[in-house]
Amino acid sequence: MDCLFCKIINGDIPSTKVYEDDKCYAFRDISPQGPTHILVIPKEHIQSVNEINDANKDTVGHIFTVISKIAKEEGIAEEGYRVVSNIGEYGQQTVPHLHFHIIGGRNMKWPPG
Ligand code: 5GP
Ligand code: ZN
Repeated sequence: MDCLFCKIINGDIPSTKVYEDDKCYAFRDISPQGPTHILVIPKEHIQSVNEINDANKDTVGHIFTVISKIAKEEGIAEEGYRVVSNIGEYGQQTVPHLHFHIIGGRNMKWPPG
């Protein structure tokens, strides 16, 4: 399948791995929006949140336990962080393979101060 993140899972495109198990893969975003910016993706190709259903909900639930674990390991859990999933055109989703951004290590307050 001609999908960037499927190629990353298969190792056809290199990435900096943070975590992996039979259901999901986590790696550092190539263009980080904060000191910590990790993407967590299902190994199964799911296009977006719109395609979450009863058949794949256990994988998605599992991904959130992984997100919680990664945040602690990265040392951002206590101060706080963001989990973001962009969906479709208006959501500015650029890669059509479900992914959850973990962004942290800085205060998201806007305007700053
Ligand atoms: P989206 O805009 O779809 O929510 O997020 C896609 C994310 O994937 C972006 O934050 C972008 O920086 C990241 N990204 C795109 N191509 C690559 C790549 O080849 N490697 C890695 N590690 N991240 C990528
Ligand atoms: Zn894919």
